[in-house]
Amino acid sequence: MALQQLQQQLQQQLQQLKDQHLFLTIYGTAKQRYFPKLKRCAKSTSSLMLVINWLFNLFSTTKDRFLLNFFTTIGYTIYYPDAHNDNTWIEVLCHELGHCWQTKKETVLVYSYKYLFPISSGLTLLALCWIPWLFFNPWLAGGLCALLVVLSGVQFIPQLPDYWRAKYELEAYTISMFVRWHRTGAIPDNYIGQLVNLFTDMSYYIMRNDPQKLRAELIAARDAIISGNHPIVNHPIVKLYLVCAKDVKDPLS
Ligand SMILES: [Zn+2]
Repeated sequence: MALQQLQQQLQQQLQQLKDQHLFLTIYGTAKQRYFPKLKRCAKSTSSLMLVINWLFNLFSTTKDRFLLNFFTTIGYTIYYPDAHNDNTWIEVLCHELGHCWQTKKETVLVYSYKYLFPISSGLTLLALCWIPWLFFNPWLAGGLCALLVVLSGVQFIPQLPDYWRAKYELEAYTISMFVRWHRTGAIPDNYIGQLVNLFTDMSYYIMRNDPQKLRAELIAARDAIISGNHPIVNHPIVKLYLVCAKDVKDPLS
């Protein structure tokens, strides 16, 4: 029994070494080839992440959920929960690199604006409130200003579908699904269920409100990935992953 346990421990450690090796290869290649500004940073060491976590705590029923459970990419910096400092989160790394690719295509400013659309559009409408006062009498200007405030408030209603963030996350989670399938040979039903929840609950401020349709889309994507017909296989980050996974040798050999 003790020998079996020792064998298991050795196998786990070997797998961890292999994963770390692949992780660092993907990370290093992505930085060298596509994202020179790529960085990774433990969440607890970032003042920005601590402030965002504090804001989330005001509304969330689970304390420090943002700090402990979520990976966050802003620009080309990937912030990870401290428990994941082992450099083995290959699937998540590919997902976050998918966001870096979206950022690279659209620029940090445009991508961030669209990703945070309900907040950014709401704040933009509020910022326009001074304009009516330049052109109209106080009554009319006040009325228009009140209208802008109401329209701004409408942007924050979480139940409204969030086109841009849903689009970006669907692409990034399709990369996740591909990597999961490639590494484990399966994309289980419960994983599809978890994704449906992530898209339709408050984790991402309700990106979609059509869980049945989304589930059908994800299942179709899974089938296409498994049969080798999904276009995500041509995504630069998936190609990068496949090259690294093929090139990485067993670190102990
Ligand atoms: Zn994401």
